[in-house]
Amino acid sequence: MLIPTPVFFGAGEPHRMVDLEVAEPRTGEVRVRMAASGVCHSCLYAMDGEHAAIPVPIVLGDEGAGVVESVGPGVTSVSEGDHVVVSWAPGCGTCRPCRRGAPAICRRPSPFGRMRDGTTRLSAAGQEVFHYGPATNAPLTVLEERAVVPVHPAMPLDLAALIGCAVATGIGAVRTTAAVRVGDAVAVLGCGGVGASAVHGAQLAGAHPVIAVDVVPAKFEALRALGATHCVDARSDDVVGQILDLTDGGVDHAFVTTSAAPAFDTALRVLAPRGTAILVAGYPDGARVTFDPGHLLNGERRIVASKYGSSNPPVDFPDLVDLHLAGRLKLAEMVARRWRPDQMDEAYDALRSGAAGRGLIVFDPPPADERGR
Ligand SMILES: [Zn+2]
Ligand SMILES: [Zn+2]
Repeated sequence: MLIPTPVFFGAGEPHRMVDLEVAEPRTGEVRVRMAASGVCHSCLYAMDGEHAAIPVPIVLGDEGAGVVESVGPGVTSVSEGDHVVVSWAPGCGTCRPCRRGAPAICRRPSPFGRMRDGTTRLSAAGQEVFHYGPATNAPLTVLEERAVVPVHPAMPLDLAALIGCAVATGIGAVRTTAAVRVGDAVAVLGCGGVGASAVHGAQLAGAHPVIAVDVVPAKFEALRALGATHCVDARSDDVVGQILDLTDGGVDHAFVTTSAAPAFDTALRVLAPRGTAILVAGYPDGARVTFDPGHLLNGERRIVASKYGSSNPPVDFPDLVDLHLAGRLKLAEMVARRWRPDQMDEAYDALRSGAAGRGLIVFDPPPADERGR
């Protein structure tokens, strides 16, 4: 089946729409017609060459939702027509972390850019086209069965896409990794898609105060709608002092949701004694952070990491969908705008510029309110 698909050819080069051959799903695989794909920072790192060299040509996208179009032999958990949220961390399913419900730290992940068997399901004129994880920027993509999680069909699929990366990561970091309790003081450093989700997760957990810190004050109104009780401009004077003043001596949890240089150090300096800094952001390869070990020791402060929000997608994604359908989990409020698949570079440029809110690539047919834009 030939499908026009946005393909990335390397750092500094624009996306091109290419007619891709999308193979049938093999054993244990499913083919999914994507409804929407989130515009995520990890793809931006890949585009800008800040990760180890990625194979090209490649289809990007690690956050999406869609409808199962066909299934390969042996697939049991989904069937044609099921609505699914895509997980970028299917894991091998058998190693110890996978058996413990932590596929994001799987010991035997699939080879980067390829399916588990080392081949690709996307090609152009006989040349293989790689896939950045689940390649959710493709209107039609082939995934491992474990990479799709069936969800309630009442869930709007465009908003469901967000659950697959930003929301799972941000809310999971609050709920699962940090286990934030009612009344805990929380700061979130960097409020892109993951940070905004962490702010909202902190609200859902009953935290107070919930302090959102970002370099773009234009984001603050939306962050307040998601649950921020205070917003601090990261470019203002004495960010640490402002947060300490708001919290009677520091926060219980500081979520580092940006790799921007000062965030990690700020997180440690705003921690109350026995507080925890939770490292959530993906960093460019080769990044290093610095901190004052005495400050850590003297307050018994802790640093932990949260990959993919410590998510167990088959359990967590349906929970998050149910929470949205019950009116508790806000998702529409996170979306800044919708783009067509042929606007990929504009969508990533908006993310690169620090624009407020998540961008969504919406596949055919576009929503009525976006037609003609
Ligand atoms: Zn992502
Ligand atoms: Zn595994």
